Amino acid sequence: MSLWLSGIGVSRGIAIARVQKMHGGELDIPEYALAANDVDGEVVRFYGAHKRAQEQLREVRARIPENTPSDIAAFIDTHILMMDDRSITDTTVGHIRNERINAEAALRRTRDALIAVFEQMDDPYLRTRRDDVEHVCSRILRILLKSEKQLPTRSEHAEPFMIVADDVTPADIILLSQQQVAAFVTEYGGPLSHTAILARSLGIPAVVGLRDARRLIRENELLIIDGEAGHVLADPDELALQFYRDKQAAQQRHRADLVKLKGRDAISRDGVHIHLLANIEMPEDAKVAEENGAEGVGLYRTEFLYMNRRELPTEDEQYEAYSRIVAAVKGPITIRTLDLGADKQVDSGRSHGPLPTNPALGLRAIRLCLKEPELFRVQVRALLRASAHGKIQIMLPMISNLQEFRQARTLIDSARDELLAEGIACDKHVPIGAMIEVPAAAIAAPILARHARFFSIGTNDLIQYTLAIDRVDDEVNYLYDPLHPAVLQLIRHTIDSGRKAGIPVAMCGEMAGDPRFTRLLLGLGLTDFSMHPASVLEVKQIVVESDIGRLRSAVAELLECEEPQQMRDRIAELDRLHTH
Ligand code: PEP
Ligand code: MG
Repeated sequence: MSLWLSGIGVSRGIAIARVQKMHGGELDIPEYALAANDVDGEVVRFYGAHKRAQEQLREVRARIPENTPSDIAAFIDTHILMMDDRSITDTTVGHIRNERINAEAALRRTRDALIAVFEQMDDPYLRTRRDDVEHVCSRILRILLKSEKQLPTRSEHAEPFMIVADDVTPADIILLSQQQVAAFVTEYGGPLSHTAILARSLGIPAVVGLRDARRLIRENELLIIDGEAGHVLADPDELALQFYRDKQAAQQRHRADLVKLKGRDAISRDGVHIHLLANIEMPEDAKVAEENGAEGVGLYRTEFLYMNRRELPTEDEQYEAYSRIVAAVKGPITIRTLDLGADKQVDSGRSHGPLPTNPALGLRAIRLCLKEPELFRVQVRALLRASAHGKIQIMLPMISNLQEFRQARTLIDSARDELLAEGIACDKHVPIGAMIEVPAAAIAAPILARHARFFSIGTNDLIQYTLAIDRVDDEVNYLYDPLHPAVLQLIRHTIDSGRKAGIPVAMCGEMAGDPRFTRLLLGLGLTDFSMHPASVLEVKQIVVESDIGRLRSAVAELLECEEPQQMRDRIAELDRLHTH
């Protein structure tokens, strides 16, 4: 009998295949005391397992084909780096020696303490690093416990197969993607986990967070998954099978059409050039952005340079990273200065006292940089030095008033004067812009627009702060609504204020890359969209099929809607307006 299940769709696409369950399972970690003369042997056993885990990851890294986008290899590099980080080995060996406990229990303590740090973080991207800690430690634990996960192998499966597992690590995904895997269903994980991001990059449909999946789904039964809707259908009847086969074929045709848009500019039917840019997290992503038809980089999240390490990155190291992006991207590059939360200083041994109870409202982003001008100065000098080689813009995160903007600009000016006095080249007129992601900044946009050279709307935070919902709290996720009238009014006001002041306004939050909102945003007058590289072609297709003049008048009326459903219906009508 058919069974409908529902999880979180994190990677689009329809897949139809038979199930292969992957038994990783939760690890049963024993704890026992060691006799004094067994301690040295236990340390040696731990180092041996750690070394084997390092080798395994390096083997996975070596198996990644040369032509694979570099962001995919970067996920494994993150795990290799984490594995090499002495804080895991030193702390674990410390537990073995000081508490005289076995290696598994000692490693569990290290893991739990690290996870606790990551779980406190308010930034969802940084919080997902908790999964990385879990994956890296589990790899060592499995070796210690001799319970290594068995991945299905190609010879067993001439046909594509569907993985159903508790969790899948990035390394598992890479190995499985080289086999015939059609899709993944996992019991854990969320849309921002590395596993989800990797599945999207590799184009493998995936549904995560489907609790009890392994219990409810049977080995070898036929499964349909819709990676967009998060639907899973086990043992489908003929009718359902035919419906999804048709849908799958239509999607394949659509993807083939999108590829044709790669080299084309995003020009609307009525001749408006819309700039489609990429959000990147690592310098290596810049190449992928270009390959996906982005005109440049609209948001480089530099905080990733500061992660998984104890020392802060030096000016030279940052200069090198920024210069690599400049070398890889022909178009403009907007680099955001450090957006760390108050909690993030733990990594580099910096601390401003106890962790705040509400870090999203605390000392984060530009607030932290203004409080720690030396931290800011090092980054700004590196940015300015890289600006000598390409078209860089500096973007300040979480600006909430004009004074912060002015203070930051003064620091940037003095870093520039310093460099020039040292005879070091830089672009003397690097545009400095503000992210509009705090409601106060959106409301005061006309004032900020007199001083900033550009705006970029960060809808992820703007929605969080406007609707008073923690963006990483699952309990209130249902309130997270980009179409809330208050959010749309703030977006419109920001775009209008920028236009009146003659400065460009971009959007770099998730909303900019969501094809459901493209026509709405075009109708609000947005001309610069920055998004995950994988969304660029989809958004481009909508742009080239849109008549922006028509959208502007339709959207002006739509903003009057009082009911959410009415609003959604009217947005769907914008699409129909263009397809008929
Ligand atoms: C945003 O807030 O919309 C944004 C783009 O920044 P981040 O998601 O990095 O906070
Ligand atoms: Mg933000």
